[in-house]
Amino acid sequence: MEQNNNRKPEQNGKPPKSKLSLLLLSVVVILFIGMLYGMISDGQYTKTTFSQFMNDVENGKIDEVELHYDRIYYMTKEEAAKPEREQKACFTGLPNGNVLELAQTLNEKGIKVNQVIVEDNSTIMMILLYAVGIGAMFFLMNGITRRMNGGGMGAIGASKAKVYMEKKTGVTFKDVAGQDEAKESLQEIIDFLHNPTKYTEIGAKLPKGALLVGSPGTGKTLLAKAVAGEANVPFFSISGSDFVEMFVGVGASRVRDLFQQAAKVAPCIIFIDEIDAVGRSRDSRYGGNSEHEQTLNQLLGEIDGFDSSKGIVCLAATNRPEILDKALLRPGRFDRRIVVDTPNLQGRLDTLKVHTRKIKLSEDVDLQKIAQATAGAVGADLANLVNEAALRAVRKGRSAVNQEDLLISFETVIAGAEKKNTVLSDKEKKLVAYHEVGHALISALEKQETPVTKITIVPHTEGALGYTLYLPEEEKFLSTRDELLSQLRSLIGGRAAEDVVFNTQTTGAANDLQRATGLARKMITMFGMNETLGLMTSATVEHQYLDGRSYMDCSDETAALVDREVQKLLAGCYASAKETLQNNRQLLDDIAALLLEKETITGEEMMAIINPPAEELTIDNG
Ligand code: ADP
Ligand code: ZN
Repeated sequence: MEQNNNRKPEQNGKPPKSKLSLLLLSVVVILFIGMLYGMISDGQYTKTTFSQFMNDVENGKIDEVELHYDRIYYMTKEEAAKPEREQKACFTGLPNGNVLELAQTLNEKGIKVNQVIVEDNSTIMMILLYAVGIGAMFFLMNGITRRMNGGGMGAIGASKAKVYMEKKTGVTFKDVAGQDEAKESLQEIIDFLHNPTKYTEIGAKLPKGALLVGSPGTGKTLLAKAVAGEANVPFFSISGSDFVEMFVGVGASRVRDLFQQAAKVAPCIIFIDEIDAVGRSRDSRYGGNSEHEQTLNQLLGEIDGFDSSKGIVCLAATNRPEILDKALLRPGRFDRRIVVDTPNLQGRLDTLKVHTRKIKLSEDVDLQKIAQATAGAVGADLANLVNEAALRAVRKGRSAVNQEDLLISFETVIAGAEKKNTVLSDKEKKLVAYHEVGHALISALEKQETPVTKITIVPHTEGALGYTLYLPEEEKFLSTRDELLSQLRSLIGGRAAEDVVFNTQTTGAANDLQRATGLARKMITMFGMNETLGLMTSATVEHQYLDGRSYMDCSDETAALVDREVQKLLAGCYASAKETLQNNRQLLDDIAALLLEKETITGEEMMAIINPPAEELTIDNG
């Protein structure tokens, strides 16, 4: 961290290096042009010596003379006799002080003297001319580089790099639902922006940057804005992808500009969205090129360079922290990592509350229910859901949003709009119904509680012919092996039902099988839940916050073994799922019949069939 200190002052105050070099370049170019011009114009004359000139004067060879402050231009009679195009004049230096005297002498000899310039204003003129030339040149070149940089140099508004600055974001922590841990971590930054001296007095190193890590739509941008809003400082934002350009050096100059602009209005927040676009590791695995490296180096330099005691804090967001260059994460740079989680039940409820603050809700609205149904949705989804609901209410000519609006828009946003015109044949409908009930029944029987909120066979646009909405597994961070196995059986329960009831297999199970295979593979390669492979892991997660995809890092033999084990595991689960369904065939038929009749049934309706109401049982017993 020490070395950072040495570098910081140079960034502030002084004109930027690039302008200085531009000015220098202009000077050189203009001087060069001047010299060239001098050479060319002198080239039109033959250079002679003063004594030669005086000789010619004595011998009456001279026709015409032009006297300047330090030069004599003259034409010999010989030349003057030639046709005008071939005439060549001479020039020679003129010793100081005797201009008038010389003019007198020449006049006496009957030589025509055209001009006498006694005073030396030519030097002043010359300097003026050069100055104007250099100025013009500088502006011209400045303009050209500015265009090349996409409006870089100092032009924030007009800049193609889409830096945008908000004096006041107007967003506070109240607008960000949930995310308490992230808020807590950011609180210190706010405090610091409010009162930097409190920290510097003790000698504490101030945080320069923090990395907000989380899935898309979880509110990273919102949080950054809220930090600026809470601290009441301007908010600069740019997307990492804006730095990525074809031309080498453009990205770097944009980074420089951004920090320059920010330094002018400090204290402030600089927010770089999608920092992985610039910050991706320089090693070859993710590709790289010199433009990218240069931009990243510039970014690293600027972060080291800025004076954090001035109150600049750099926040960056990414959903792929694992690909970031290690240099970015070093102490003194983005060393703080703030995880912005996908919201849990309470978080979703709070988010819904925040977004319905300004929306008229009718009395039947139960946000708790909506929050329960939206497991896995992020803040952006929920904001979208509320807005869709409001739009629907307007379409239906109502003055307030009701529960139905929210439920329907939930389906639009999360499951895709209901596709009313897909007509399934009766046979297909039956297949879909049994398939869906197969999933639900297995989890219901295994857990002995309501596993699903809803089962439907109304087709949806996003490909699913029917779907089963599982109840959220709230606040669950660990899964046991048994739970995972149960999940596997439920996932392939759809296919099992097709098999048990119709002795057939449909394409509808493709997605289920993919998910089941993925889960089985994880159990074997990552969770150490397989006897043959034991505790050895053979896969690594690559995009933890994006799609959680993993890649295998093991020998080919192990990979082949894993494949066989996955197969075995799935086969075992399948057999047991089939058995469960066969043993409960009556329940399967009853629930499927109800589903076929109503097209959509709730989890409670299903449970009523599985566990008939208590009164009936007592009567039976009595
Ligand atoms: P990210 O930057 O993580 O992709 P954004 O901050 O751009 O996500 O979020 C998009 C929108 O989603 C926000 O403008 C806001 O309306 C909504 N949103 C996301 N998270 C939250 C949250 N925790 N509380 C309230 N609104 C949220
Ligand atoms: Zn299915």
